[in-house]
Amino acid sequence: MPDLTLTKVAKSFGDNTVLHELDLHVRDGELFTLLGPSGCGKSTTLWSIAGLHSPDGGMIAFGDRVVFDGGKVDLPPERRNCGVVFQSYAVWPHLTVHDNVAYPLKLRKVGRRERAARVHEVLELVELDHLAGRHPHELSGGQQQRVALARALAHPPDLLLLDEPFSNLDAKLRERARLWLRRLQQRIGVTTVFVTHDQDEALSMSDRIVVMDQGRVRQIGTPEEIYQQPADLFVADFVGTVN
Ligand code: ADP
Ligand code: MG
Repeated sequence: MPDLTLTKVAKSFGDNTVLHELDLHVRDGELFTLLGPSGCGKSTTLWSIAGLHSPDGGMIAFGDRVVFDGGKVDLPPERRNCGVVFQSYAVWPHLTVHDNVAYPLKLRKVGRRERAARVHEVLELVELDHLAGRHPHELSGGQQQRVALARALAHPPDLLLLDEPFSNLDAKLRERARLWLRRLQQRIGVTTVFVTHDQDEALSMSDRIVVMDQGRVRQIGTPEEIYQQPADLFVADFVGTVN
């Protein structure tokens, strides 16, 4: 699995500067969380990594593969090989669980037998193999989100990018989903960038966290470091260590 490097990644929308020359390094195989209040630039960062929009400047590399470099290199999303899961589970309602997961493999012209084997394997991984023939409306929210995750993993991605994937789940399901995702991520070892505005979620499942504020890094550290040694009042306030 490659690591991920962002060097001076900048993005503005009109005169709203959303990312101020952001520097980040995500290690090979870790679960790295972008944490911060709504509007601080988390999704913009994730979209820049996925290639869903272009930053105004800076550099992004997966391992030693440069996917964005100023205006010179800008690989389209389909050449970046990221598995992406968004907040709203964008699964096809008219396709079965099996066919939802098989879809990206079909697009890549993976042969029928290999496709069936891979779909089976990845549905087992998310513990949904027994529901392969169902349609999304027959599943719970948590199960639908696992279908989206299975689809993101179907063609093994170099990077897994998760944008508030649990925010539509109720509190109890969310807690289970966290534990479950953490286990899965450790098992498959895929380098993962996880976006959330929920400090408990970040603290409970990350290897490391970056706390962002208005497109800038406030602190990068392990959950323990962020919680026990917040770099400033903003971080302390946000993770709830102010008393
Ligand atoms: P977060 O995910 O942390 O809530 P976003 O990255 O979605 O934050 O947004 C950061 C800022 O960029 C916000 O001020 C938002 O309004 C602005 N923004 C995001 N996407 C667009 C867009 N497509 N056009 C204009 N402004 C945008
Ligand atoms: Mg967002």
